[in-house]
Amino acid sequence: MGLYHSTRSAAPCVTAKQAIRRGIAADGGLFVSDALGETTIGLDDLASKSYFELAREILGALLPDYTADEIAACVDEAYNGTFASDEVTPLVPLATAPNADGVATYVLELFGGPTSAFKDVALQMLPRLMARTNSGENADEKIMIVTATSGDTGKAALAGFADAPGTGITVFYPEGKVSRVQELQMSTQEGGNVAVCGVRGNFDDAQSAVKRIFADEELAARLADEGVVLSSANSINVGRLVPQVVYYFAAYAQLLRAGSIAAGDAVEFCVPTGNFGDILAGYYAKRLGLPVSRLIVASDKNNVLFDFLTTGTYDRKRPFFTTTSPSMDILISSNLERMLYYATDGDCELVAELMAGLSAEGVYTVPEQVLARIQEVFGCGWADEDQVAAAIKHCWDANGYVIDPHTACGYHVLEELPAAPGTAARVLLSTASPYKFPRAVAGALGLFCPPDDFACMKVLEKATNTTAPAQLATLEDKPVLHTDVVDIDSMSAYVEQAASNL
Ligand SMILES: *Cc1c(COP(=O)(O)O)cnc(C)c1O
Repeated sequence: MGLYHSTRSAAPCVTAKQAIRRGIAADGGLFVSDALGETTIGLDDLASKSYFELAREILGALLPDYTADEIAACVDEAYNGTFASDEVTPLVPLATAPNADGVATYVLELFGGPTSAFKDVALQMLPRLMARTNSGENADEKIMIVTATSGDTGKAALAGFADAPGTGITVFYPEGKVSRVQELQMSTQEGGNVAVCGVRGNFDDAQSAVKRIFADEELAARLADEGVVLSSANSINVGRLVPQVVYYFAAYAQLLRAGSIAAGDAVEFCVPTGNFGDILAGYYAKRLGLPVSRLIVASDKNNVLFDFLTTGTYDRKRPFFTTTSPSMDILISSNLERMLYYATDGDCELVAELMAGLSAEGVYTVPEQVLARIQEVFGCGWADEDQVAAAIKHCWDANGYVIDPHTACGYHVLEELPAAPGTAARVLLSTASPYKFPRAVAGALGLFCPPDDFACMKVLEKATNTTAPAQLATLEDKPVLHTDVVDIDSMSAYVEQAASNL
């Protein structure tokens, strides 16, 4: 009951704790549970539930081998006092619906955590969950977290794992392909167990190399001799996925409390998407009983998911664009593999075949009926760079509300797509503070942008009468502690070196 196994083979099975500890299955697949949907979350008393109550209930349902006390402690450590709002993820109404159909639209602010991006919601939780996976024979084992980041994961993971007992963390980011604020957030990270390194390549190169590092049995054996095991903080880890399910329910609870919907009404969620983790959590929420009329995948110019969702062919052989929404500049959306598993009713053989095709040829096509099932749940759209800038401007002009370029991709798609039939309210997930990308945002608003990002933040503060989060505004005064840069081929050796320092 509640066991996990690889998307690529139905056996062996592991507990949720083991799945979280390992991150990725031995055959390269992602951990999934066939129990998804067996337990549902009741809607009747949802309105009265706090974020903390919802988190305890949902984590308990999806991670059944953790005790209620363990879950309660994790939830408290992760969210008590770490987020700007007591709601953790507050819901803000937009004065004007982006679309002419006039369905009430809300923004779910996911960026109130310590690094000002939505990944904090999961990465404040993952280290607490991981800390409770030590038992019996592995009680003395150390975990080295290895993560490739397109910008925001890295800092959020560093903030979560810095000085966490029994754990080290190595973060790789594509050199020159993250914003200056993002880079400084990582290069100034303190902590005795952290390593931060730029990579000459793009995010997909770095992520593929990290996957090879995890699959390297000789490396694993050498590390095991030193009492170290590798694990992942990327969104493929079950321990990242599960905490994200909570805010879909929390959004619904807030809509109920505001009187904007009645229990049972269907809500549509629009999600700025890269690795398909955030939106997959929305699918899990739906399977747990949340009334969701549609989940909209919003992409930037790297619109590989849009093409897949409209044609059934996933083709990563295409130009890679560096955009103002770097955390969505992704050509391989890893978590889509989990969706394929569920959309094929758990056909591991087919999933393994498709993933082998992706790895060898860079392309796969799903059977027509599988595409049709996915399309029943998911809508899609994308925004080019001009449309992102126009969306930021439009959202400000129409609502007096400032959004970041990732959120703006979603806003644009909401402008384009009418609400799905039967939708009572639309919710746009806002994944980053606009102050993480002050240059792009100020530029879109037609403000004068000084060459320095921090001066840009001040311009933005003045023009919009909002305040930059302190943890961003003070970054420029912090000492840079990490300056390493390596080639893709040297990442493995770098990890081994960092592990030897644990
Ligand atoms: C990571 C990230 C995304 C994409 O989320 P996925 O779970 O990878 O789809 C979108 N926006 C921001 C700001 C992010 O950091």
